[in-house]
Amino acid sequence: MHELPVIQSILNIIVKHASMHRVKKVHSIGLSVGTLSDLEEEWMQKYFDHLSAGSVAEGARLRIEWVPAVLSCEECGNRFELDKTRMDGITCPACGKKKFSLVSGREYHIKDMEAE
Ligand SMILES: [Zn+2]
Repeated sequence: MHELPVIQSILNIIVKHASMHRVKKVHSIGLSVGTLSDLEEEWMQKYFDHLSAGSVAEGARLRIEWVPAVLSCEECGNRFELDKTRMDGITCPACGKKKFSLVSGREYHIKDMEAE
């Protein structure tokens, strides 16, 4: 259910942007979403349709581009993409250690917007 606040904040930005640029209608919105964000495309669109009703962005389609999660090894600094299907027992491909920090993968942001 955490799509709801995310979509609300995205919509707020879109509506603000639209009024600044005198946009009449928003057709689609490009979003970059990290694969670890736990957001689901289907729900994002559903919530968006619900929240955007009556606004300048009503009926706009979300174009979601999934961004892979990248880990950084705390031992050797190697960066590598996380394979989501093998979350258990991940080791650094360079040194074999198991201490990582997350570089990207949980974030989401608006890339572009198609409007008139
Ligand atoms: Zn390493």
